[in-house]
Amino acid sequence: MIVQKAKGIHIDGRKSMSKELPLQDYLNPQFVYIHLLRQTESLKRVVEVGEYVRIGQVVALREGWGPLPIHASVSGTVTAVKKVWHSSGKMVDAIEIKNDFLGAMDDSITPEKDPSSLTKEQLVEKMKQAGLSGLGGAGFPTFVKYQSKLPINTVIINAVECEPYITSDYMMIDRYPEKLLKGLHYMMASVGATRGVVAYKAYNSHITDVLTPFLPLYPGIEIYLSKDIYPAGWEKYLIQQITKKTYNSLPSEAGAIVNNAQTAMVFADMVEHNVPLIARGITITGEGIKQPRNFLVPIGTPVKDLIEQCGGYIDGLDSTKTNYIAGGPMTGRAILIDDLIVNDTLGSVIIRPIPDPKLSVECMGCGKCADACPVFLTPTEIWHASERGDIEAVKRLKASKCMGCGLCSHVCPSHIDITDFVDKAKALIRKGA
Ligand code: SF4
Ligand code: SF4
Repeated sequence: MIVQKAKGIHIDGRKSMSKELPLQDYLNPQFVYIHLLRQTESLKRVVEVGEYVRIGQVVALREGWGPLPIHASVSGTVTAVKKVWHSSGKMVDAIEIKNDFLGAMDDSITPEKDPSSLTKEQLVEKMKQAGLSGLGGAGFPTFVKYQSKLPINTVIINAVECEPYITSDYMMIDRYPEKLLKGLHYMMASVGATRGVVAYKAYNSHITDVLTPFLPLYPGIEIYLSKDIYPAGWEKYLIQQITKKTYNSLPSEAGAIVNNAQTAMVFADMVEHNVPLIARGITITGEGIKQPRNFLVPIGTPVKDLIEQCGGYIDGLDSTKTNYIAGGPMTGRAILIDDLIVNDTLGSVIIRPIPDPKLSVECMGCGKCADACPVFLTPTEIWHASERGDIEAVKRLKASKCMGCGLCSHVCPSHIDITDFVDKAKALIRKGA
């Protein structure tokens, strides 16, 4: 198959601000809120208000496609079911658990006697029982990838973190390098892959330093150093670079599976200790807060708690003058308030002063958006065709190839959110299909 090369550009990383301080454990919030939503699937609650729950106890079920159990992340009492903010930008129902600070564990959390004897099927079942979904942002149930009918030779850990500001994977690998390799080793065993690859940016040489002592213990695992361009972490691009193959719809067509670094770490904990997905690393950063940093937190932690741990907002700023982005600045979602709750897919929150609306002007036809687009689209033409409701033109301009990387908006000197217009054009195709 012919590999079409995607392009990318170097953008200001702004990562150093959240790397100044080490990863901080914030493991005991007073309340956690377990969203009753995973991707677009509503969850079935299996605990009642007033019930006592332990860490790792199943509190909800994702039924239907990609079924998964969802677990309590602290021990304590279920005090309410209420609507809270979700990183999708919607308010959704959540189970409120009041932490009793006892750290009581569910009986299922016990060391696995002989992890190396687990069969492929048993390992995939553990992925499922862990409630494991992609922690990189997509939230796709991990076990589904490992039930591929196509042979898989290569499992890739995507630790490229190519969007600016985000450093949570970097900090988690810095603290738990062997756990990452263990997780990858068990992922390879789950599908019989002989090649494991940890991919990250070449300038993160510190990651090489912390991984190298453990690499001889995990045969078949190698390092791939990516360029400092955006979107170097785009799944298709990464697979092309590493396997020299491409695919139409699924990475398995190229004999590969890609997982996020933290997903692999949670899997290592599940295989060896039966600890499901109850915590994650998150970056709280941006020019709007005093001390950006990374945290390891239980799923369901209020972001407000973490902003407080960062010393709060910079002087002269408060939550009414602030712009929050759930996720990265290129692909994340703008959220209006700081009542956001950490969920499985939320790896960063970027907090910046609201930009001056006077900075936005008309499109000047400079063509920078088209020059930047990694998949060679012409975003303005797609935008105008979509505004005319011309579905045929939108299709001809290949709008569905847009991967939502956000580069066109990022480079636009007129500050036009052109990614959003292309997104609307894609929706037009879906509606008309
Ligand atoms: S968001 Fe879509 S149109 Fe814009 S640069 Fe990325 S791929 Fe191209
Ligand atoms: S980069 Fe902005 S101003 Fe330039 S053509 Fe694209 S939308 Fe118009």
